[in-house]
Amino acid sequence: MTAAIEVSDLRKRYGDVQALDGASLTVPEGSFFGLLGPNGAGKTTFINILVGLVRKSGGEARVFGHDVETDYQEARDAIGLAPQEFNVDRFFPIKEVLEHKAGYHGIPADEARERADDVLRRVGIYEKRNTRFDWLSGGMKRRFVLARALITEPDLLILDEPTAGVDVQLRRDLWNLITELNDNGTTILLTTHYIEEAERLCDEVAILDSGSVVEVASPEDLMDRGVDKITISFRE
Ligand code: ATP
Repeated sequence: MTAAIEVSDLRKRYGDVQALDGASLTVPEGSFFGLLGPNGAGKTTFINILVGLVRKSGGEARVFGHDVETDYQEARDAIGLAPQEFNVDRFFPIKEVLEHKAGYHGIPADEARERADDVLRRVGIYEKRNTRFDWLSGGMKRRFVLARALITEPDLLILDEPTAGVDVQLRRDLWNLITELNDNGTTILLTTHYIEEAERLCDEVAILDSGSVVEVASPEDLMDRGVDKITISFRE
């Protein structure tokens, strides 16, 4: 079976900073996979290379077998990304933003409208469909960013710290929604600082530290060994 993500010896240098230093990782298709690590470990850089926002300095990165640089479009089309920092068109009603994105990916207008309604309902902000992004609350913005990631019905959903600083209700809603997506076959890659979140959701987790993958294990195994306290929280 083709892996959803296959990365080997991935390297990225920004000036003097070695953000990724030979990271290797395989994320099986259909899995719910956690990527953990302290601040500055390289998690966002890893994701940004997969989606083509950052060019790698060395190594290999494939998404469903497509090289993220030479087969950029195929790799990118398979991914829905809910990033940590949002960069959303602020001046249009959010439903239109979703329809534009669907159109950009070649989805016909009628279908784009249906999909936009559907994803807005699923994330619980359908009643805000004619509101512009700027005017949403912080929690609604998070919900919208997830809707935007889902509009293309991606095979791989990447969530960069989706529950950082959100209230209990939203956290529960997000957990339910992404668990349901995973049950229906979507591969999930989630970065988080919360081992409890990984334990609740993930089949397997990798720990990234100083740009390398230092552990791949089940979250329960990590907790039993106390690895969370030693490694993940080390530099927080
Ligand atoms: P966090 O948990 O704090 O979000 P992270 O694991 O996502 O951290 P990255 O954001 O990938 O880590 O950062 C890895 C390292 O690369 C850090 O030292 C960071 O300062 C550096 N870095 C990231 N982006 C850039 C950039 N555009 N230019 C220079 N250095 C960068």
